[in-house]
Amino acid sequence: MKEQIKKLANYIPEEPLASVKQRLGLKKLVRLSANENPFGTSDKVEAAVKNWNFAEGNRYPDGDATDLRRAVAEKLQVSQAQLVFGVGLDEIITMISRIFLQPGDQVIQTSPTFSEYALHAQIEGAQVIDVPCDPTTGKHDLPALLAQITDKTRLIWVCNPNNPTGAYTSVADLTKFLAEVPPEVLVVIDEAYIDYVTQNSAPSAIPLVQQFSNAVVLRTFSKAYGLANYRVGYAYADPKIVSYLQSVRLPYNLNSLTQTAALAALADQSFVASSVSQTAKERENWANFFQEQQIKFFPSQANFMFFYYPGALSLADYLLHHGFQLRKGLQQDWLRLTISGAAEGAELRKLMLNYRK
Ligand SMILES: *Cc1c(COP(=O)(O)O)cnc(C)c1O
Repeated sequence: MKEQIKKLANYIPEEPLASVKQRLGLKKLVRLSANENPFGTSDKVEAAVKNWNFAEGNRYPDGDATDLRRAVAEKLQVSQAQLVFGVGLDEIITMISRIFLQPGDQVIQTSPTFSEYALHAQIEGAQVIDVPCDPTTGKHDLPALLAQITDKTRLIWVCNPNNPTGAYTSVADLTKFLAEVPPEVLVVIDEAYIDYVTQNSAPSAIPLVQQFSNAVVLRTFSKAYGLANYRVGYAYADPKIVSYLQSVRLPYNLNSLTQTAALAALADQSFVASSVSQTAKERENWANFFQEQQIKFFPSQANFMFFYYPGALSLADYLLHHGFQLRKGLQQDWLRLTISGAAEGAELRKLMLNYRK
């Protein structure tokens, strides 16, 4: 077996809400630890799922996700053949690592960033090179990432906006960056939160895939589209990379119910727009609050905020016992909270004020 597997810690998934509530004897618990959409799922998805033909249950799903593929390609104005769908981006990240990494290879990423990149590099026996984010903005330090490239580098992960810092890197900066990266090094731009970016009118790096054959863009339905439970994400890439991904992809990875839900979610752009605008408003409330309270945080363009609080674990514990679960353990003395609706935000800020008294 792969020796490196023995050294890996088991991934600890989010404990189900009901179980946390029962364990702590809470009446109410708001989970703000997983960046899920706090506004739920579109009514259009509910209708489509209820309308799903139960009689299809004995048949394999459409392995090409034909209707969903057509709809996504149309929305993004890209070629259908350049899309690869996965059981969430989790599966796409797994496939990319599986294809491109071998023992001895190097992967470059920002620290902190999404933990799955490093996990899959380790599974493949590759070495992870961590480059600290800019300490004032939480942004990727692009020149420092470039400086780490060696002849062993295979992949650079660029989460944009970055999870957990929330910082957004412009397409102009990414263009300059890609121009400096050797063409044989893959640059994977994970746009899980791109829908939440409001500071730019065209925030996505999708157009860069035409310009740079080593650029890959990832998107998911788990966040702004409110479908985390359905598990669907996709990659947009150069045809050669697409063909590698298609060769390792499990043939029936997306079930029909998931395809149905994603298609309906994509068609309901007003749900997405409403989630984004409510999030953007609350994001400002949080930024003002942190500023007033002189709590260090990174300016966010995502649906979460990352802030520094000495003794963060006891604050998190206090908030949990008052019904709010935040994400701890990403970086010492830092917490990440998913931006929720206005009422919940106000309640949480009040609790934080009480805690500080
Ligand atoms: C949530 C998240 C994902 C999405 O994962 P899914 O498997 O699509 O639910 C991908 N990348 C980042 C950075 C995330 O935070």
